[in-house]
Amino acid sequence: MGVASEASDTEVDAVVVGAGFAGLYAIYKLRSLGLSVQAYEAAPDVGGTWWWNCYPGARCDVESLDYCYVFDDDLLREWKWSERFPTQPEVLSYAQHVADRFDLRRHIRFETAVTSAHWERAGNHWAFETDRGDRTRARYFISAVGAISAPNLPPLEGLETFAGRVLMTSRWPHDGVDLAGHRVAVIGTGSSGIQAIPMIAQDAAHLTVFQRTANFSCPARNGPIEPEREASVRADYAGYRQACLKNGAGTPSLLLSQSAFDLSEEDRTAAYEAKWARGGAGGIPALFADTRTDMAANDTAAEFVREKIRSIVTDPAVAEALCPTDHPIATKRICLDTDYYATYNRANVTLVDLEKTPIERVTPTAITTTDGEFEVDDIVFATGFDAVTGALLRMDVRGAGDLALADVWANGPETYLGLMVSGFPNMFTITGPLSPSVLANVMVAIAHHVEWIGDCIGYMADHGYDCIEAAPEAQAEWTEEVQRIADGTLFPLANSWYNGDNIPGKPRRFLAYIGGFPAYASRCEEVVKAGYEGFTMSVGGTLVDA
Ligand code: FAD
Ligand code: NAP
Repeated sequence: MGVASEASDTEVDAVVVGAGFAGLYAIYKLRSLGLSVQAYEAAPDVGGTWWWNCYPGARCDVESLDYCYVFDDDLLREWKWSERFPTQPEVLSYAQHVADRFDLRRHIRFETAVTSAHWERAGNHWAFETDRGDRTRARYFISAVGAISAPNLPPLEGLETFAGRVLMTSRWPHDGVDLAGHRVAVIGTGSSGIQAIPMIAQDAAHLTVFQRTANFSCPARNGPIEPEREASVRADYAGYRQACLKNGAGTPSLLLSQSAFDLSEEDRTAAYEAKWARGGAGGIPALFADTRTDMAANDTAAEFVREKIRSIVTDPAVAEALCPTDHPIATKRICLDTDYYATYNRANVTLVDLEKTPIERVTPTAITTTDGEFEVDDIVFATGFDAVTGALLRMDVRGAGDLALADVWANGPETYLGLMVSGFPNMFTITGPLSPSVLANVMVAIAHHVEWIGDCIGYMADHGYDCIEAAPEAQAEWTEEVQRIADGTLFPLANSWYNGDNIPGKPRRFLAYIGGFPAYASRCEEVVKAGYEGFTMSVGGTLVDA
């Protein structure tokens, strides 16, 4: 773990904000280009997501063989995952191993949040300030703040009067929480809630789940990694990753058929059954190409899962309340679980359907809904994140002309390729808004962005440039294209964080590029081949010929 020292006043080539998987790789990459790098991380250690989200049941739902770096053969060889879907502690220890193995910690100042980043045209640099009083200037600003890292705590009336513990899955205490004998409330049934609920139910005296919207979840079917599969992947990791990169989500998956209706009803159900039995994220929604674009095709998958819920949950009224009907399947992030629906068969678990009986207020001892009072000792918020833009906008980021990013994005984020924002020179956003980011295996998205950014900075050095900016026209076209592609799918029909719907007042805009990882990577490559088309490179902000 890193130790924060006294406030500093320094100048470096690049500042990296965040030391999750994006920040760690960025430090490694920039250092290998010969740049001096200072990173800041609000947490006391590396790992990002996997540091903060240490709630019971937290687990990766991309397979471990896919959720890892591939930039170093020795690292690949020496690290062995123990399960198909690794636990949060295992993913965290992987991040810690990477930091130690490549001696990355010495670049990182921990327990230090960047509060502001201002572009200073005169010095052609960014000026940063932290909550510990550091002042740092750097030519390059690499944002590795994470797409799912700014927690959302809804302002429930009376919460400040609650006498028990208030916990958040996204800020779970590292020394654990003893829930034995306690009456626990969980608010939220997204991926975090769905992972935590079965575990909390085992420990708590009673668990009351407050569900606003039912979510689709499929079984993870976690277990040891199949030795034959591991051996075949390890025999040619690079080739395996290349094959994954040809898939829309950057993970292996098999499209059995173009359309759900290419199969007879019997064969289609058999195919869904096989996926349900196998488990994993490349499951039911990834089976047919039209699940995300055609409502009738989507309905076949959605109804299959609803039938599964009805067959697992013994109380028909509870089963119906758990069946999602307000959004097409997979237009919110599909959840993977272990015994989630079966948990509602336990005598110590109660489901409260907030759609029918909303929360009115919190009292010192209870959560009150329109239906009555639920006495609890602890409240666990699994209420998600101000995703994709939240962490960036929680800093005071100002570009050329002192323009605030928050003002520039008042109607929603606009970026070029999710990599840069016009008017914010030399600021790169790893897995930034309007890139595939959260719609891909995020490790793949991170690696692609870090390598693209590293190559770009290397190109600039080779050609004598020290300033790059996204052209406004290129940005406008990209922003429009991202939304247009999303509008051709069923995704806008869901009330989801993908559209910014979960944060009151957040402008509605589809926050990620949904055209698939391969199309995106090709576009980025074409842009480079065309001499960084859509970007302007200059010396000290003054345009020169290359
Ligand atoms: P993060 O890991 O979020 O790291 C960003 C870091 O930046 C954080 O540590 C934060 O403290 C720091 N930071 C932010 N702002 C500042 C600031 N102003 N100053 C200093 N530091 C700052 N993705 C998948 O592909 N598969 C999965 O199975 C999966 N599971 C997930 C499970 C959970 C519970 C969550 C929340 C997310 C999951 N994700 C998953 C997405 C996950 O966020 C990414 O896979 C990946 O870990 C992101 O890495 P990152 O470095 O980009 O961001
Ligand atoms: P989320 O998907 O946004 O879910 C938040 C939940 O809280 C939803 O059920 C939401 O209800 C509810 N909620 C929010 N505000 C509320 C309020 N005021 N009152 C009552 N309920 C409220 O957040 P998450 O579960 O943390 O997941 C976020 C993302 O992180 C995931 O989509 C995924 O990308 C990633 N993640 C992955 C895993 C994994 O399996 N590896 C685990 C955790 C997280 P509504 O649906 O009605 O808004």
